[in-house]
Amino acid sequence: MRRTTASTCCYCGVGCGVLIEHDADTIHGVTGDPAHPANYGRLCSKGSTLHKTGDPAARALYPELRLGKGMARSRTDWDTAMQHAARVFGQTITDFGPDSVAFYISGQLLTEDYYAFNKLARAVVGTNNIDSNSRLCMSSAVVGYKQSLGADSPPCSYEDIEQSDCLLIIGSNMAYAHPVLFRRLEQAKSLDPAKRIIVVDPRRTATCELADVHLGIQPGTDVALLHGILNLLIQQDWIDETFIQTHTGGFDALQSLVGEYTPEHVAGICGIDPEALRQVAQMIGTAPSFLSLWCMGMNQSSAGSAKNSALINLHLATGKIGKPGSGPFSLTGQPNAMGGRETGSLSNLLPGHRDATNAKDRAEVADYWGIEALPDSPGLSAIELFEAVRRGKIKALWIACTNPAQSMPDQTLIREALALCPFVVVQEAFATTETCQFADLLLPASSWGEKNGTVTNSERRVSRVRSAIPAPGEARADWAIACDFAQRLEKQLKPDQPSVFGFHQPQTLFDEFRGLTAKRDLDYSGLSYQLLDALGPQQWPFLPGAERGTARLYADKLFPTIDGRARFIADTYKTVKEQQSTDYPLILNTGRLRDQWHGMSRTGTAAQLFGHVDQAQISLNPADIDRLELHDGQLVRVTSRRGKLVLPVVADEQLQAGQAYIPMHWGDRFLRGGGVNVLTQPAFDPMSGQPELKQAAIRIEPV
Ligand code: SF4
Repeated sequence: MRRTTASTCCYCGVGCGVLIEHDADTIHGVTGDPAHPANYGRLCSKGSTLHKTGDPAARALYPELRLGKGMARSRTDWDTAMQHAARVFGQTITDFGPDSVAFYISGQLLTEDYYAFNKLARAVVGTNNIDSNSRLCMSSAVVGYKQSLGADSPPCSYEDIEQSDCLLIIGSNMAYAHPVLFRRLEQAKSLDPAKRIIVVDPRRTATCELADVHLGIQPGTDVALLHGILNLLIQQDWIDETFIQTHTGGFDALQSLVGEYTPEHVAGICGIDPEALRQVAQMIGTAPSFLSLWCMGMNQSSAGSAKNSALINLHLATGKIGKPGSGPFSLTGQPNAMGGRETGSLSNLLPGHRDATNAKDRAEVADYWGIEALPDSPGLSAIELFEAVRRGKIKALWIACTNPAQSMPDQTLIREALALCPFVVVQEAFATTETCQFADLLLPASSWGEKNGTVTNSERRVSRVRSAIPAPGEARADWAIACDFAQRLEKQLKPDQPSVFGFHQPQTLFDEFRGLTAKRDLDYSGLSYQLLDALGPQQWPFLPGAERGTARLYADKLFPTIDGRARFIADTYKTVKEQQSTDYPLILNTGRLRDQWHGMSRTGTAAQLFGHVDQAQISLNPADIDRLELHDGQLVRVTSRRGKLVLPVVADEQLQAGQAYIPMHWGDRFLRGGGVNVLTQPAFDPMSGQPELKQAAIRIEPV
């Protein structure tokens, strides 16, 4: 009999509600949930084809184990698989200490999965070596929010898109990466043409079609641009002195710094017209409300934290924060990168927006978990973690729901590390990912449509994810795998102590986790599965007794810092790590396409989603194609300091001369020689650990 189950889309951070039409074991269709406040029934091409993806032939169905490198894996049963994993991890920890093992997890896990892995790493193993692919996605925004506003809490709501008079979209091709929100912006602009939209992006993307002004800056020059805008706001007296004096600190140092960023100086750095900069400053300075939206163009940078803070400075200087239509609003890349941040799924964090380096925070979590102490040695961020694997410092690695052999920068380094690691566990729904080939133990996990739990979207809205059909083969839920392993490891490492892992369903994980948010900035201790079922998705904070969540933060102008004031951050502009040179004269940018998702393990199984772009290709400005004496469609060799790739070249007017673009999605399955990350660099932001995935110097030659 056919039924409908309400759930949430598993792709981007918009977090659209979906209605799954299914029978006992097959999903037949997906439509947008008209009652979900993230999308009110809208879906993009990816969400509306969810039921056509996830080819059963691509799924991991049974545990598979090999007892030596170079051997083929063979099917085993869950008990043997988990006992083996517990024995190897347990022995490694006993012989080499807790920091000799690590977990690398995913922004596509549900909050309950994340929480189970965090408690496993911190409470059972005793290591902070747990990082997530959110490190590649939002960690610069985390630093930006924390150092400027005091907590990693995006203050805005999607309704601010309609309410804002002036929107700055910077480092985001929202039309492709967050399509349902972009449709909302299109509609808002058509109803109110006076709404001003500024797009800052080195490429003239589809998002620019809605822009009143497009600033095509040189890659990586955002900090100079933002300081230049602030300098003009100050000079023209478009700042809010009262707000600055009463609710912020650090303005004088910043004012003195940005004085150097004159329009002409900034125009020279950014490669733009100084008059366009003045026009943008005027739009922001004179608009009653001002909203900024950003994504990977700001975050995936060796200066990602500085970019985030420089943007937040504009809101603090104008007092345009905590009001309808105003505030800094990061667009989350992955469906539950927010849930990962909430549960502490970066090596430097702990559950409830706590810090692993803060003794009081560690003591609070240890006390809540009923254990003596949490580890105080710093954990490794993603790039550091894989470098430590390659150096032999980490000897057992557990990877869940992510594909680092394709998605991490400098793919050769990452694959060397995976090949050298004595024991690699890969917990995955799809057996086809590039990382699976490195698994000594492959554990089949359930996927979208088969899992229960919660996710948090970009506007802090917690939504239920519900299963419609059972998982295929012997696949298990991610949280259940983590909990099973944790219980077995407890018996190995702490046989005389009571278990802290008595979880038998995701709701018990959710209930324990929400207790750790109590009295924190993200307090959603008042939320429960029952309330989410009754009220629908809710934005945190959601305190006990609340009737609804909180649409906007900082309306009271009180920030979660020691003195209640926000902070201006004065970072100088720094150039990108890898400059163009005679040998590598072009700058490569990477990013998403409209109809594909990450490494294509799901979207790559639906023919319909190849209708937009059907193959990997490198885009160049037509003038560069002429200069290099190439022609459209010709195969070229693309070379960086780290690797080579052969691709067809296409002319693309979106790109400025000297720049190139390759989509992030294609990997070994579709492109011989690996994907774009053969070329990208492992440089990362020292504050956030986020890699500079969007800039690498390359050269192009005919094959
Ligand atoms: Fe899914 Fe994002 Fe598309 Fe919404 S906008 S349907 S969340 S991919």
